[in-house]
Amino acid sequence: MDEPMRQTLSALDPEQLRAVTAPAGPVCILAGAGTGKTRAITHRIAYRVVSGEIDPRGVLAVTFTARAAGQLRERLAQLGADGVQARTFHAAALRQVRYFASRLLEGREMPEVVDSKARLVTLAAARAGLRADRAGARDLAGEIEWAKANLVEPSDYAAAAAKAARDMPYEPDKVAEVFTAYEEIKRNRGVIDFEDMLRAAVWGIEEHPDVAAQIRGQYRHLVVDEFQDVNPLQHRLLQAWLGGRDDLTVVGDASQTIYSFTGATSSYLLEFPRRYREAVVVRLVRDYRSTPQVVGLANAVIRQARGGEARLRVALQGQRPPGPEPDLRIFGDEASEAAAVASRCAELIAAGTPPHQIAVLFRTNAQSQSYEEALAEAGVPAVVSGAERFFDRPEVRQAMVALRAAVRTTPDDTPLPAAVADALAATGWQRDRPPGGGAARERWEAQAALVTLAEELRLTTLAEFCDDLARRAAIQHSPTVDGVTLASLHAAKGLEWDAVFLVGLADGTLPTSHARTDDALEEERRLLYVGITRARQWLWLSYGQARAPGGRARRPCRFLPQLTGSTQSDAGGGPGARPRARRHQIVSCRICGATLIAGADRKLGRCATCPSDRDEELYERLREWRRVVAAEQQVPAYVVFTDATLAALAERKPTTEAELAAIGGIGPRKLAAYGEAVRALVTGRSVPQVTTSPPEH
Ligand code: ATP
Ligand code: MG
Repeated sequence: MDEPMRQTLSALDPEQLRAVTAPAGPVCILAGAGTGKTRAITHRIAYRVVSGEIDPRGVLAVTFTARAAGQLRERLAQLGADGVQARTFHAAALRQVRYFASRLLEGREMPEVVDSKARLVTLAAARAGLRADRAGARDLAGEIEWAKANLVEPSDYAAAAAKAARDMPYEPDKVAEVFTAYEEIKRNRGVIDFEDMLRAAVWGIEEHPDVAAQIRGQYRHLVVDEFQDVNPLQHRLLQAWLGGRDDLTVVGDASQTIYSFTGATSSYLLEFPRRYREAVVVRLVRDYRSTPQVVGLANAVIRQARGGEARLRVALQGQRPPGPEPDLRIFGDEASEAAAVASRCAELIAAGTPPHQIAVLFRTNAQSQSYEEALAEAGVPAVVSGAERFFDRPEVRQAMVALRAAVRTTPDDTPLPAAVADALAATGWQRDRPPGGGAARERWEAQAALVTLAEELRLTTLAEFCDDLARRAAIQHSPTVDGVTLASLHAAKGLEWDAVFLVGLADGTLPTSHARTDDALEEERRLLYVGITRARQWLWLSYGQARAPGGRARRPCRFLPQLTGSTQSDAGGGPGARPRARRHQIVSCRICGATLIAGADRKLGRCATCPSDRDEELYERLREWRRVVAAEQQVPAYVVFTDATLAALAERKPTTEAELAAIGGIGPRKLAAYGEAVRALVTGRSVPQVTTSPPEH
């Protein structure tokens, strides 16, 4: 085996290796968050390319967000597998429809793709005699999206919605009417929506043998990341690409299904091994991403999950060294929460964490604004993570034009960073004047990233730099914009950061008040799970009780574990002090360090699944003592102490009254009645006489 191949394989565990080196054919990885699924697919592609088995141009790897696709391309380029197409379903479909437009559209122009349904849906609702406000339009648009993703036509909507038990504030017949009107309006205006584009790609392949032959001739090896989130329309497109072939690798985690509200379903993932009986199926449980503390909290949250997706969940096993406990904070209102998050970000950055290794994640995009402001106020650079890719940003494209133009006028001996900064200054960018926040700051940061890149690259001339940028743009290998990421939980899927702030964890926000059915609530729980599992080292969870100062207090997110709280202020008073917050006591497993949530685990001081380090001899002595005491007092043994309490005593061996009191099941009365006897048993002293009557209950 040659060196690059050896290197590709050396960074994998045995299960990953099995998936990576599996022969051509169906491969399925069913595994939890952070277990290396994406790593396995990138290595599988690279291994097959580097070994000469496949041509990189024959690979199509699909995923769900532009950022995740960018990351796939980046990881592949690092592994020496340039030239692989890694795209979202939408981007792949758009590209194919565009490419074959002349054949598919018979000379007509490619219609514009509308990026939001809301406006057209409002018009359609009016036509159907419905007055839909913003929330109503959103519900209707969501319903139309669901129907189209499920290949349901307007005439079949009512029946399909009833079958799927859709929860809608409008009559199904009315929704069908709006849906019909919406399709008509689009046709009249000559525009299409995202689903139409996917349908055009499917139809292009299914109805045009020449198009099918060309596409299938090009894409011979298909790979899908986050396969738990494909919807029937996307699945049909995948089948069209495959055309009955089976060189398909899929990876996913049913516990991270977060798009079922738009029609996605984890059933394709879960049924894959049945659909392809000869598939190589691999399961991974080792979590390489997060500390045991983060993994423990994630396990505790998903352990409570119900429904189909929960069937195959597995407890993750953290592989990283222990780290800090997750921080749970409750603030008086949202503004204090945002201010505290910003100041904690500033602290992390001051202590050496690069801003791009920090993310603030929230349930809805509307929550972004207050964090943009708070971070700007604290002087922390931020990047709002939209779907937009770095080299697609207008200011970056404009900057590249300006740089190219400056090649002719820049003297050869100008240092590259200065040449880049000068060229950008000509477009109005001011190095020393970063705007306060929001979109303007984001634009400034994007341009600043180009200067930083010029400083980092060992290139000499502006012409070389322009060529390098063009190459990067072609593979979307964007320079990392050094700002704290602000993103929705949906957009954070598949990504990871050293420090993650999960904010706005109030019931009504997460879970959103729109989640009314059990299924919808389970999806919200999975969203929290996705959020928690993004963190490598530091995890902060918080919410503001009131939206605004003095407002109505809300309850914390119901999926957060029950925590016993101690009240503590963050900092002393006085001007500039951080907002006061209640901080919750987190109990960790003394074996693996994970956060303990369940009452029984907290009593034991370890996860029920971790090996016990109980002193068996002491346990027997305690049982014998309990038998004697119970007999004397003529009560059942469990009235003295339950087995669980005895087990906890034999594990934790409390020698002080405080340690004893910390063990669940030992209240003040039992402490007074039996405390001394138990401590004597633990330390091996002679056991004093116990009181003759049991403590009252
Ligand atoms: P998600 O479900 O969130 O998409 P994932 O299963 O795709 O997660 P990856 O992103 O591939 O997980 O891996 C998580 C982290 O663990 C990455 O930083 C990756 O480099 C690292 N990692 C994965 N496998 C290994 C391994 N065998 N040894 C060391 N690090 C690994
Ligand atoms: Mg992944």
